[in-house]
Parts: sequence; structure tokens; C-alpha cells
Amino acid sequence: MNSTRTRIPQEIWETALGELQVQVSKPNYRTWLKKTVGLSYRDNEFVIGVPNTFAAEYLEKNQRSLIEKALSGLISPDVRVVFQVNGKSHNHKTDTTSPVMPQPDPVYTKLNPNYVFDLFVEGEGNRMARAAALSVARNPGRTYNPLFIYGGAGLGKTHLLHAIGQEAAANRINVICTSAEQFTNEFVTALREKNTEDFRNKYRSIGMLLIDDIQFISGKEQTEESFFHTFNELHNTNRQIVITSDCPPRSMPLLEERLRSRFEWGLIVDIQPPDYATRLAILESKAKQKGVSIGKDVLELIAHESQTSIRALEGSLNRVVAFARLLRASPTTDVAAKALEDVGSKEYPVGEISPDVIIEAVADSFQLPREELSGRKRDKDTALARRLAMYLLRQETNFSLAQIGRELGKRDAAAVTAACKQIASNINSNPYLRRKIREIKRQLLPKVAVKT
Ligand code: ADP
Ligand code: MG
Repeated sequence: MNSTRTRIPQEIWETALGELQVQVSKPNYRTWLKKTVGLSYRDNEFVIGVPNTFAAEYLEKNQRSLIEKALSGLISPDVRVVFQVNGKSHNHKTDTTSPVMPQPDPVYTKLNPNYVFDLFVEGEGNRMARAAALSVARNPGRTYNPLFIYGGAGLGKTHLLHAIGQEAAANRINVICTSAEQFTNEFVTALREKNTEDFRNKYRSIGMLLIDDIQFISGKEQTEESFFHTFNELHNTNRQIVITSDCPPRSMPLLEERLRSRFEWGLIVDIQPPDYATRLAILESKAKQKGVSIGKDVLELIAHESQTSIRALEGSLNRVVAFARLLRASPTTDVAAKALEDVGSKEYPVGEISPDVIIEAVADSFQLPREELSGRKRDKDTALARRLAMYLLRQETNFSLAQIGRELGKRDAAAVTAACKQIASNINSNPYLRRKIREIKRQLLPKVAVKT
């Protein structure tokens, strides 16, 4: 484990994340650290990729020293971290004046070098999706177009999408891989700056379009419209389109009918949660990839404990490794059981879900930083997310109205009552709201996958 210098940055970063995960609160981890990647390490400078300027600012201000400490134990005591937003450097020494507002993201998402077919473990739940992904990667535009992959969180959709992108890029196909959220941001910026023509040209000129988390555009009419045209132009000229989503097209209530029918033109495949054997195989592969030696009994224990998603599975492995390292012990089953103690709770009886978990799940589902739910912003999304959090806290915990108000930024009980009433009265007439609630509850009460 001492050859860390030669390990690739992403592996080093994952190990550091494992340690950070133990040190910061869960919501904090999920909001700020979960979506980061280790990009490079040279001359004592470790570059961390973050999804937006907002995250860069936050990490820079609040967690730089903690992060440097975690990394210094792994690589060098003099390591300095630099946060990079989708390829743009965000260094506090040179960039102190930039506003805290999120900036428009460039479309070209960096493809995660770890998300390749070789590192994708095949199992019962993902066999079809993997085969279809391989097929379009090798014969773009000629087999299934579009390919639509859906499944729950952390089951490997993004991994497959990037794997397709990497395979295609290796064959000199000009790929754009972006999230529906980034696509929307970019489109909105183009509208504002009146250069939708450039926007259109760029998308029209590519060989393959990979769009992650399409559910994000559902209900955003103008973006749907723009995506519809992009889709048609690419599809008409046989350029491959791959789309991922957390649900099948037919379950996206606010999606325009014409887009839904386009999505159904090609092949729709789902990814199911991994069974025990697949979980174990994935853990073995991840441990090998990280260069950690860990007994099969320990991996079996983790595979038993962590049943919901592969992301959670990986998190558990990182946690066990980090825990053992902090204790300067080897990762035995005892150490593992201890490390997983408070992550393992799979059931949350009423009154025992921590409010943080609920607020975090709501923030996650609206793709908002958790802090904004207790903040002062009143735009449509933030206000709805906040009301929904209040409603769910009321439903799922024993908190009083006053306590709920406090959890969400010192609001008074009357505000909480009003929010709960409003949500309750809208539920029946608003399918979007119902879907959101379902989605969040699914996160809170993860259905324990195939019992083993
Ligand atoms: P999703 O996009 O569905 O939420 P991701 O693609 O981000 O999920 O996957 C979450 C994590 O699990 C990633 O680190 C990914 O590499 C890993 N992962 C998912 N499926 C597999 C698999 N079949 N084999 C190996 N790793 C996987
Ligand atoms: Mg994803």
C-alpha cells in the first residue's frame, strides 16, 4: 500500500474520500465531496475536479485544510490542492474575486477514466444494459438509436455512459457527454446571451451525444424543445444518442409526448440492483483496483451489509479501509463491522430518521446544495424543495412544528403548517410532486435488494 505515488490520482482521491467520509457529516459529504474526482497530481499539486463553481468556493473556504490533511497522509506532507470546475482552474490565489454564483458549465464533461467497460463488473441486474452499451459503442448509430438506460441511484448508469464515450472517443468519434442539468444551464445561458445559433451548431456537429439524468429536463419546456430539435438533427443523420434516467420514459409525467415517443424509438433497458454474487465480485474488483489487500471474509461482510446501490457498496469499502487505516489495524471483520455500524441501519422506523437525512434527500432530489433549504432563497425550485422537506419531516419524524422550522433555517411553526397544508392539497393534482415524493421516499427507505 506504500506505492501511493505511482497510483493514479482518482484512486488516491478515493482513498482520501474514504477518510473524509468518516470526518465530516454525512450531508456535508454528500453535498460537497461526493461528486468530486481526483484529476491529477504533479509537483505536489493535487487537482480535484468539482461539478460547479459553487462547490469549488465552498470547499476552498471551508475544507481545504481538512482535504490537504487527508491527502498529505497519502502522498506528501507538502501537497497543495487546487479545485477545478470542469476543466477550469479555481485557485484561491488567482481567483479570489470570482462571484459565488454558479457559472455556466462547458458541455464537454471530462470522461471519468475509471468508468470503462473493463472495470464494469457484469451481473444479472446489468447484463442487458451492458451488452446494449457495448453494442452502441462499437456500432454507433447502427444498432439501437437512441439507447435509453434507466435505473435507481448508484447502479452504474453514469459508468456505462462514460464507458460508451470512451470507447467511441478511442475510435475518433467526436463525443459530447453531458448531464441534462448542464445541457439546461448551457441552453439557458445561450438564450440569455442570444447565441443559441452557436449552441445549436455545436451540438449539430458532433458524432455522438451522451446525456446523463434526462429526468432533469422533464417539465422544463424550452429546454425540452431545444433538446427535441437537437435529438432530431442527430438522429436523422444516424448519430448515436444515449440517454440515462432514473425512470423509464413512460414514468416521466411532465415529459412532452413527442420526446417520450422519440425515447421509445430505440432500445430501453434497465439496470437492477446487484445480487449478492455481483456485489461480491464488484468489491473484489474495487479492492484490486485500489490496491488494498482485504480478506474475502471482510468483503463478504460488506456485501451482506450494503445492499442498495453500488455507490453505497463502494462507500462501505472505502469506509472500512479508511477506518482500518485510522486505527492502524488491518481490515478484519471486526474492524469492518465497527466501521459499518452506523451506515448499516437499513430500516428507519418512524421517529428514527434523522432530519438531516430527509433534508439531504430532498436537496439531492432537487439537485440543490443542502444549505439552500435552510437559506433565504425563494426561487421556485428552492421554495418547493423547502416546503417538501417540511412536509416529509412532519410525516416521517416526531419533530414538532417548531423543531421542523428550526431545522430549516429558523422558520416559525406557522410557516411549517402552511407549507405542509400546501403540499398536502397539491399532491393529488400534481404528478410531478407525487413523483418527487416517491423518489425521495425511495431513497429514505431503500428497498433491501434481493435477500441473500
Ligand atoms: P448511477 O449513475 O446509476 O447513479 P454510477 O454509474 O455513478 O451510478 O455508479 C456508482 C458507482 O458504482 C461508480 O463508482 C461506479 O464505478 C460503480 N459501479 C456501478 N456499477 C458497477 C459495476 N457493474 N461494476 C463496477 N463498478 C460499478
Ligand atoms: Mg449517474
